[in-house]
Order: sequence, then C-alpha cells, then structure tokens
Amino acid sequence: MEMDTIAAISTPMGEGAIGIVRISGPKAVETADKLYVGSSSLADAASHTINYGHIQDPETGDTIEETMVSVLRAPKTYTKEDIIEINCHGGLTSVNRVLQLTLVHGARLAEPGEFTKRAFLNGRIDLSQAEAVMDLIRAKTDRAMNVAMNQVEGRLSEKVKKLRQELLETVAHVEVNIDYPEYDAEEMTLQMIQEKGEAVRQEVQHLLTTAHQGKILREGLSTVIIGRPNVGKSSLLNSLVHENKAIVTDIPGTTRDVVEEYVNVRGVPLRLLDTAGIRETEDIVERLGVERSRKVIKDAELALLVLNYNEAITDADRELFQLLKGQDAIIIINKTDLEQKLSVEEAEELADGRPVITTSLLQDEGIDELEEAIRDLFFAGDMEGGDLSYVSNSRHIALLEQAKRAVEEALSAAESGMPVDMVQIDITRAWEVLGEVIGESVQESLIDQLFSQFCLGK
Ligand code: GDP
Ligand code: ZN
Repeated sequence: MEMDTIAAISTPMGEGAIGIVRISGPKAVETADKLYVGSSSLADAASHTINYGHIQDPETGDTIEETMVSVLRAPKTYTKEDIIEINCHGGLTSVNRVLQLTLVHGARLAEPGEFTKRAFLNGRIDLSQAEAVMDLIRAKTDRAMNVAMNQVEGRLSEKVKKLRQELLETVAHVEVNIDYPEYDAEEMTLQMIQEKGEAVRQEVQHLLTTAHQGKILREGLSTVIIGRPNVGKSSLLNSLVHENKAIVTDIPGTTRDVVEEYVNVRGVPLRLLDTAGIRETEDIVERLGVERSRKVIKDAELALLVLNYNEAITDADRELFQLLKGQDAIIIINKTDLEQKLSVEEAEELADGRPVITTSLLQDEGIDELEEAIRDLFFAGDMEGGDLSYVSNSRHIALLEQAKRAVEEALSAAESGMPVDMVQIDITRAWEVLGEVIGESVQESLIDQLFSQFCLGK
C-alpha cells in the first residue's frame, strides 16, 4: 500500500515558544523543498541534518519564517518514512501559514494520531507502545509519565511476548503428544501445563495488580471531600489546590460542565470531584438522600472525611463513617487551634484502621502529614521502587483479565483430568488474547478507533 504524505503542527511538550510543522511520507522532502530557501536544496541534504533557511510562499515570494529544517530520511525515523520538521519561531500565525503551504504543495492534513499510526503500521512500534504514546500525551504527573515511558520503550511488550512464548512452548509440547500418542507422555504434559500455566497466571496477576495503580496515575484518583457543614471542607480543598500544582488538562472530550480539579499530591494525581456540587457536600445526605450519597461516595476511590476538633462527634458524623464502610478514606480532624471537644480515641475507633490526621487548616498545620498519608495509601510497598506499573490502559487490563481467566480454565481442566487437547484450547485462547495486547491479531477497525483518540500532530 502506497502511503500519501501527511503534515500537522506537532509542538513538543513543554516548549511552547517553538512550533513544529511535521511532514511524513514519500513526498515530504519534495514538498518542503518547494517552500524552503537555503544555501542548497533539502533534496541534497544528508539524512538527520538540521538546515538553516527561510520558508517562502512560492506563489507570492513572501518570506514567512526564518527556520531550521530537520531532514530525516526513511527508515530511521519515527514513522519509518521520510520526515521533515520545520521549526517555526514566529508564533501560532506563522506556524499555521507554514502548515497551510505544505498542504497546498503536496501534503494532506494528518488525522489525529496518524503519525503514530504509521509508526505502528510500518512496524516501528507495536500497539501497546502506540497506546503508551497517547498516555504520555495525557500524563498528568511525572509518575504517570514514567509508566507511559516504560510502555513506549516496550517493557509491557517484552513481558507479554515472554508470556506468549511460555504458552506457545506448552502448546507445542501438547502438539507432539497428540501427534505421537504412542509416545505416552500424557502425564508429563499435564504436569508441564500445570507448572507453566501457574507461572503465567501469577505473572498476569502481578501485571493486573500494578495495573490498578497505573490506571489511577493515568486518570487521577477520584476523590470526594465529605463532612458536616462548617468543619472546613472548602478550606481543605483550597489548601490542596494552592499547595500543589493544579494540573491543567486538555483531554479531548472532557465535558466542561462537570468540573474536576486535578492536583498533584506527591505524585498522586487527585481528581477532586465536583459533580452537581458534590464537592461542596454540606449535608450531602440531606441534599441527595442516603442512597445517592452512598453511591457518590462508593464511586469515588478516595474519601476525605473532615471532622471538627472543636465539637464532639455527632450522629451525623457517625452516619458519614457508616457510608465509608469498606472504602479507602482518610479522616481529618480539623481546627486543632481551637479548644478540644472531640475524642480522638473515638475518631480512631470509628476510622477502623484508616489514617487519622489532625490539622489546623486556618494555621496551615497538618497538610504535610495529610499529603504523606495520601501518598502512602497509593504508593505503599513496592510501588515506590523500580517496579512501576507496566499497564495503565483499560484495554490492556480487560485483555489481561481474559487471558488470566483462560489460563485458569486450562489449569482447572488439567486438574480435573480433561484430555490434553481440551486443555490446549484454553491455552491457545490465552495466547491469542495476549497477542491482542501487542497488536498481533487485532482487526483494522480497532486500530482506527485507537489512533483517532490521539492529538493532532502526534
Ligand atoms: P465547610 O463548610 O466544611 O466547607 O467549611 P469551610 O472550609 O467553609 O470553613 C468553615 C469555617 O471554618 C470558615 O470560617 C473557616 O475559616 C473556618 N476554618 C476552617 N479551618 C479552620 C481551622 O483549622 N481552624 C479554625 N479556627 N477555623 C477554621
Ligand atoms: Zn464549604
């Protein structure tokens, strides 16, 4: 299939002052040469060089930009095609004009994610890596970025390939057994399936466990602040927002009417919910009724319950504790600058093992402890070390769940003495499902759908 030549504005992350027009495809160099005026033509430039010159409108002769043009020839490029990158310094208008010129002179506007799609189609990256590029664009904290980077570098792919290899070896062994029944290795084969299957099951389970944290890193930890009126909920929200860098998001399709505030608390992206005013949960129960408030609290991944140090625990407080049963929560006893009327022991008892923090938000005290508690809750144990999550993508999670189930079925079939070729069906299914993670055996429509989620120019 002959690819056409595509172009888009592709501005690198964190470098707002420069705009880059990126062109990829067989006519990339030819198109750029029509606009480029320099000491020699780009067609004569060596690969992987940066060339100083001007961009000119060939029709009017107007100079649009003073520029550095990168010439990157296939196949050692991101898309494995010829790539031209025109670096513009003159702000948005001139970047746009340069893009328009490329579109008049041989390129077509790239669809969202099309550069990465080409990288995938040309075999430069596999599907899980392509998806990671998208996660990288959306990453809200450094940690989330690291997870995505790991994936871009193919660490998930490596793991998945290894697991598939294990499964394949098992299948091959079974094949031998079926083809040569006189070579009676049935028992040995079953034992091997059990051993390898169990090892694969454990590894998939491990990936799934870390996936939960990965998902949080990517999407933010949905958090509600609850408490009776006047205990300090708004003050808590304000200090979380002001103490921490608020995270700016530009995820396409985010509905603007649901306000979500993102803050980066020591690497944990909190998504503070304010759906239908729930962030301001003055008397959440009264306003929404018990059932709806229970649902809102249950749907959140973290609840911050605020109590007042200056008042004894009330029935309304106890009711809120009831709603928090089985939920990740941190209890905040606020207003410690005032006279103590609340029994901390009682609060700790109600907290039932969950962290209890004392604060005076008015005097800026206890915020550090609270932030540490939030971090500890989600980066407990091995998460802190090098074993960051490999999986953060819900498509991958769903596939890994399926693979795990298939392996489990194989294991129980083997256990119950089913014929070996029946067991093999489940193993093969697990192998296929894992293949979908890295894009072997996925259909075109899925690929189109995935890449259309990308930002333009990536
Ligand atoms: P909300 O109704 O739960 O949102 O509570 P607010 O955050 O609006 O706070 C209610 C009142 O308590 C405001 O006047 C705050 O200034 C005050 N307040 C908040 N935190 C503290 C604190 O730590 N100490 C004292 N003394 N007052 C506080
Ligand atoms: Zn308030």
